[in-house]
Amino acid sequence: MTFSDLGLIAPLLRAVEESGYSEPTPIQTAAIPRLLEGRDLLGCAQTGTGKTAAFALPMLQLLARHNRRAGQRSARALILTPTRELAIQIHESFKTYGKYLKFRYAVIFGGVGQGPQVQALAGGVDVLVATPGRLLDLIDQKLLHLRDLEIFVLDEADRMLDMGFIHDVRKVIAMLPARRHNLFFSATMPPDIQRLADSILTDPARVEVAPVSSTAELIAQSVMYVDRNNKKNLLRHVLQDKALKRVIVFTRTKRGANQVSEVLASNGVSSEAIHGNKSQSARQRALENFRVGRIRVLVATDIAARGIDIDGITHVINFEVPNVAESYVHRIGRTARAGADGIAISFCDAEERAFIRDIEKLIKQEIPVQRDQPYHSTEVETARVMSSGKAKAAIEKNQNRPRRPRNRNRNPNRNRTNR
Ligand code: AMP
Repeated sequence: MTFSDLGLIAPLLRAVEESGYSEPTPIQTAAIPRLLEGRDLLGCAQTGTGKTAAFALPMLQLLARHNRRAGQRSARALILTPTRELAIQIHESFKTYGKYLKFRYAVIFGGVGQGPQVQALAGGVDVLVATPGRLLDLIDQKLLHLRDLEIFVLDEADRMLDMGFIHDVRKVIAMLPARRHNLFFSATMPPDIQRLADSILTDPARVEVAPVSSTAELIAQSVMYVDRNNKKNLLRHVLQDKALKRVIVFTRTKRGANQVSEVLASNGVSSEAIHGNKSQSARQRALENFRVGRIRVLVATDIAARGIDIDGITHVINFEVPNVAESYVHRIGRTARAGADGIAISFCDAEERAFIRDIEKLIKQEIPVQRDQPYHSTEVETARVMSSGKAKAAIEKNQNRPRRPRNRNRNPNRNRTNR
């Protein structure tokens, strides 16, 4: 199967070829022809599957087919997505795939001044990528309207719900013209998401790839049992291996992310932390530094990492095991994208055993234990697994403990003798 078999027009084929894609991914093969026929689409897929091109390419072709100029302060196609990082990436993808078509693209999201966004919308755009809050804000100010919309995409619907955007999403939907082409994507399809999809879509084609409960086979997963106090030592140890070229380290909390980044810095490992307390520009700078290889390690919390689309991530390290099993699947999906392989390592202490058990249930496989490491703890491995609820409470109690001031003159060997 090639991209031209899918019925794409020459300017798109040329852009795809320049992106270095030799063949379509399964979601592209399934979705593109149906969208070109004008069918609504329900896509059960997460990022990393080639989802963006699966909707961007046919959308560009449909917009070219019914070519007309967007009126002032209006958009012909809208992609609604939960995070700014995703919005920026989708916008970039449209620009890449559409570079041989003369369309206007814009992206809008909160947390930055609205001036340049307003200006970009003034003359009308063909494709608008937006997060819900800023979109509604600009509509309220009459700086944008959706009355002429032709194509509507709701991206990552399950995360929209998780992040509390459902009311905003419904408000946006209420503003759309009745006659329109709808696309709906979600990594998971619980009943409330299905109901939302039913309320938007008309007789949709259904496309499903790699449900969230299955982790990519190309990811080699392992768990390392370790005392909480030794996790930083273990991270240092693991990072001595030069095969870890481009690494995301996940922590549960912002404070944890900063601490890990500090430890890495004091060990000469180039890293940056991204999380919700950092300014948008600082996050983008960190992502860019990571993307181009100026830093080797990106330390991130789950929210900050949503939708990060960076190729060539060799390793994902769960410095802390996520207490929501689905997050594990999302986290490790940052590696092994579009056919590459990747490695995911989870550092698990006694309390986190409960979360590993939940994850194994979700992914329906056992995660192999890596015992061949200097900080392996048999006590942790054989500790009684508590209920996830108890484990969460215990961890929270720990996190809220006041921090001891660090004693810089501490004998560096002390920890070792105590081990
Ligand atoms: P997405 O699921 O849209 O986030 O895409 C994941 C990654 O796969 C992105 O880095 C894309 O550039 C890449 N990609 C998309 N389609 C293809 C393809 N047909 N062949 C190779 N890589 C692709």
